[in-house]
Amino acid sequence: NICRRKKMVKICCIGAGYVGGPTMAVIALKCPSIEVVVVDISVPRITAWNSEQLPIYEPGLDEVVEQCRGKNLFFSTNVEKHVSEADIIFVSVNTPTKTLGLGAGKAADLTYWESAARMIADVSKSDKIVVEKSTVPVKTAEAIERILTHNSKGIKFQILSNPEFLAEGTAVWDLFNPDRVLIGGRETPDGQKAIQALKKVYANWVPEERILTTNLWSAELSKLAANALLAQRISSINAMSALCEATGADVSQVSHAVGKDSRIGPKFLNASVGFGGSCFQKDILNLVYICECNGLAEVADYWKQVIKVNDYQKNRFVNRIVSSMFNTVSGKKIGVLGFAFKKDTGDTRETPAIDVCKGLLGDMARLSIYDPQVTDDQIQKDLTMNKFDWDHPVHLQPMSPIDIKQVSVVWDAYEAAKDAHGLCILTEWDEFKILDYQRIFDNMQKPAFVFDGCNVVNVGELREIGFIVYSIGKPMDP
Ligand code: NAD
Repeated sequence: NICRRKKMVKICCIGAGYVGGPTMAVIALKCPSIEVVVVDISVPRITAWNSEQLPIYEPGLDEVVEQCRGKNLFFSTNVEKHVSEADIIFVSVNTPTKTLGLGAGKAADLTYWESAARMIADVSKSDKIVVEKSTVPVKTAEAIERILTHNSKGIKFQILSNPEFLAEGTAVWDLFNPDRVLIGGRETPDGQKAIQALKKVYANWVPEERILTTNLWSAELSKLAANALLAQRISSINAMSALCEATGADVSQVSHAVGKDSRIGPKFLNASVGFGGSCFQKDILNLVYICECNGLAEVADYWKQVIKVNDYQKNRFVNRIVSSMFNTVSGKKIGVLGFAFKKDTGDTRETPAIDVCKGLLGDMARLSIYDPQVTDDQIQKDLTMNKFDWDHPVHLQPMSPIDIKQVSVVWDAYEAAKDAHGLCILTEWDEFKILDYQRIFDNMQKPAFVFDGCNVVNVGELREIGFIVYSIGKPMDP
């Protein structure tokens, strides 16, 4: 080639999931001179990334992918080829909680990470930067380094920790405007060079002062610490919500009042039926395990409590529904609004809706479920799967006597509520705030109950219509 161009930097990301897909799409969009290939062993996932129907729902994601797919953003199942050609390899594979063996129920299962690291070592023919994008236990980089250096033939690998702080539902916004980008690396000259190379990628759109660099262990631990603190805030306000109900205080007023304190701040202080999602519980359990392994039993117990309060909150909600409806929901129809673990996502991993629905089905209720983004198949799958019991990891919790024929999934909130004795709201989708509740009331059995697990409805207005309303942390009907 006569016109010799500067070599294009190549990035490969292993894992085309909720993190790998959106983060790489944004890097590709913001860095037109970098070629980004996202690889995955899942053929359906890659097929979906290459189609008009992306495998995950995130506001704004379609537009970002459309702008760069086929130009400098590619999705492929040819994992080894693209890994071997890359300069920087992000690893964004799943790191779920172990379900068997040592540490079962708490420790992170690093099987996917280990096999990715072995494959990188096997196929690499040139020096590479390997970036931990997945959330991993502190000190994972040390184990990864051992795998990579042991297998390499004089090839140098630099490991960086670059945990992802995006939140599902706002992933694209978060990636465009991160509070911070964290890069941890070795304090050696090569480690620092690798940090600078990754920093250069982010510097294409992230202001310099928002790119933090630390040592490897601080970066790895910061991700676990961030998730633990966020989940702790939810459990703290949820614990207060129980006290509010017992005393006549209103949790929204309490949140507002305490959130005005600049040391506390207003975010993440909404009482709800509990937190969900694939990360909070898993990462806290992981933290608990690391504490126990380091002989810090009291610290482990402290963090365990965050999950216990979360479980308590879900049980409390189910008990409230049953006790309010004259101590039984057997044979009664309950409309369920929302199934995803939060609004603006179709993700149902660890959603509180699973536990609440199972609790109601255990009392023989009939459920009619509506969620704008979750499919019928997904709901059926979630409700029939055994739940892993982290507190007693040797056993799966026995399947409660759930009759899936008692569940119907409908595509409209009004249909879900039609002829129902009660309506419960389990995801804070905006559309649930603006439903025609008079129409809903007219078509429900009487007395008509609303159980708001996310505090989205206007309690006064609904009571005016005639509903009996239970909203988490709020005074009950006079
Ligand atoms: P995910 O399950 O959606 O995606 C992981 C993908 O990795 C899957 O598609 C899987 O097929 C693929 N994979 C597994 N092993 C592979 C291999 N050897 N080669 C190629 N592909 C492989 O998971 P996710 O939600 O994207 O999370 C990924 C990591 O990021 C986890 O560690 C998670 O804790 C962390 N994280 C998640 C979020 C979130 O909001 N989901 C936010 C921050 C961090």
